[in-house]
Amino acid sequence: MIHPVNINSIRELISFPKNISILSHRNPDGDALGSTLALSHYLQGLGHQVKVIMPSEYPLNFEWLPQANQIITYDLSPKQAEDWIKASQLIFLLDFNSLDRIDKMGLWVQESSAPKVMIDHHIEPEPIADVILSEDWRSSTSEMVYIILSQLGREAKFSDEIDKCIYTGILTDTGSFHHNTSPELYRIVADMKERGLQDGTIQEMVNNSQPDKYLQLLGHCLYNRMELLPDIHAGYIYLTREDYKKFDIQRGDTEGIINYLMMLKSVRVGVLVMHQPSIIKLSMRSKGDINVQMICRKYFNGGGHKNASGGSSKVSLDDTLNHLKTALRELAGT
Ligand code: 5GP
Ligand code: MN
Repeated sequence: MIHPVNINSIRELISFPKNISILSHRNPDGDALGSTLALSHYLQGLGHQVKVIMPSEYPLNFEWLPQANQIITYDLSPKQAEDWIKASQLIFLLDFNSLDRIDKMGLWVQESSAPKVMIDHHIEPEPIADVILSEDWRSSTSEMVYIILSQLGREAKFSDEIDKCIYTGILTDTGSFHHNTSPELYRIVADMKERGLQDGTIQEMVNNSQPDKYLQLLGHCLYNRMELLPDIHAGYIYLTREDYKKFDIQRGDTEGIINYLMMLKSVRVGVLVMHQPSIIKLSMRSKGDINVQMICRKYFNGGGHKNASGGSSKVSLDDTLNHLKTALRELAGT
């Protein structure tokens, strides 16, 4: 249940046709894509002109999502992104809660006088929208969009397209129903299944469509690039710039690697450090009560959720790994 006041605000904002931007974060994942495309399909059904805009490109295993091919990517077409944001009479911010997650587009959002609506499930939202729907206990932004569309009622037809998008977001953000599940979430999935959702096919397309090099890269990560810190129950895997060249690593290719670290009983905090061509990115996961969001925020200019967060670093890989070890020791209280 989303607060009725917020539902009424959204109902009013979409009560007549408008130009609408739906934005999500850099390196869009299944939830960023699923939630934005689902909302876009719904709003188009009500007669709005809608464009989904992302700062950077999405991984290829999501290219089958309905209308993914119509997404505007700021990195590829900055002018088109700018023009549409500036022409928008309503802006939705989905699956992120601070403007630094959308790079330069954040400036255009700030300058726009259009009403802004945030729908998000990350911890500690910043006051960047007029209507803020932030529920950090939800599995995904896609789950929130589903609930919002249900509450909006009014010809809220859950088309095949919408269901596919919502299911994809839920599937990926729960790690295939591993974490952040709830009775309500399974009821939502049951509703979609009853309408004929091909969940097995979607799982196949999302999870089992990696290129051959994926396993070679995974083997390299596990055999040559993994360090365990047994005294603090932590472990990390790092990828160098040379690894990026050698394995021709593209967006999406490192997805899921961190989960292998978490399979170890001895690991309670796991980190993947990626020396990408332009920046060093970190992905963190933890088990139980350990809060990695705090150290991503404090040390790596990032954030996310208690058990799954990310950040970045602008210093060298060696220095980043040293900072990381300090942060992990602080987290472990040693
Ligand atoms: P992943 O490790 O899968 O890239 O991201 C895990 C979670 O952390 C996601 O919810 C994602 O939105 C968040 N996250 C990843 N990178 C960053 C970052 O640079 N800044 C912030 N604020 N959140 C991030
Ligand atoms: Mn999400």
